[in-house]
Amino acid sequence: YAKSTRTPAQVYTPRADVNSAARLALVSDLRWALLNEEFRLQYQPKVSIVEGRVTSLEALIRWHDPVRGVVGPDTFIPVAEQVGLISDLTDWVLATSLRQCRAWQDQGSYVSVAVNVSPPTLHDTDFVQGVRRHLELAGIPPHRLTLEITEGAVMRDPAHALRVLHDLRALGVRLSIDDLGAGQSSLTYLRQLPVDEVKIDKSFVMGMSEVADDDAIVCALVNLVHTLRLAVVAEGVEDERTWQRLRQIGCDTAQGYWLSRPLDPELVPGWLGAPHRYIDLLA
Ligand code: C2E
Ligand code: CA
Ligand code: CA
Ligand code: CA
Repeated sequence: YAKSTRTPAQVYTPRADVNSAARLALVSDLRWALLNEEFRLQYQPKVSIVEGRVTSLEALIRWHDPVRGVVGPDTFIPVAEQVGLISDLTDWVLATSLRQCRAWQDQGSYVSVAVNVSPPTLHDTDFVQGVRRHLELAGIPPHRLTLEITEGAVMRDPAHALRVLHDLRALGVRLSIDDLGAGQSSLTYLRQLPVDEVKIDKSFVMGMSEVADDDAIVCALVNLVHTLRLAVVAEGVEDERTWQRLRQIGCDTAQGYWLSRPLDPELVPGWLGAPHRYIDLLA
């Protein structure tokens, strides 16, 4: 592929005309970026509110484009999904994060990783085999991998999605439903899904220390998820008040800037070994 020439000022918005020049350039650059290893992962800890333990590190992709600079996933993941590049991207994320997990293990940190799986990927015929292969290659036991999926993945073809989720469960990986409360939600599906945890969307959590309605919604969602006997994660925890409130209402796990920003992989062992302010709040 030829690399197109653009100026960084050309900002791309996913909803723009599907055939716009900016979009075509983005698609061709994404293909190039995959071949050229321009993607990087950062890792954001999920922390148990009860024990202060890091339950896993969520892999979040960034694109280091020589012209655009660092591009966030909200800009290119939707496009990659539309043009059929997402499976190759997810394959790269799985391989890279599991290899990284193994490297941390070899340094003495037995952490788990979480990987985001886009709705179309769940419906790839060889997805489960791919996950199994990456786990074997890295030498990581399946229970140390969590796959985060949105409910949208289930809505497309519920019967097929359920089979895939059961196969992944049988393989031994952990399953998480991402973004509860955002987009389409169906309690019917949520009740049937063979998952381990549910993440409350950050749009409610971020506002809960100021907005009474958001606090009430988070409380209701925590209770709802517990009624289904699943673990509940609050993402978007940005201040100490929110952490304390989540503790009070019995939320299991927290993730957010107040605990840690997404970290470059080389910073993770140091972060894991450092003392943290939330530990003092556990007493
Ligand atoms: P997500 O899975 O819901 O990830 C959470 C997003 O919230 C991340 O944005 C994270 O950096 C951000 N975040 C974490 N804590 C806070 C906080 O306290 N406050 C605020 N305001 N934001 C916080 P990011 O990294 O830009 O990722 C955006 C979305 O892109 C993700 O949402 C996920 O849907 C998607 N994504 C990221 N990496 C991948 C990937 O490897 N594969 C796929 N398929 N999707 C990915
Ligand atoms: Ca996620
Ligand atoms: Ca989320
Ligand atoms: Ca999201």
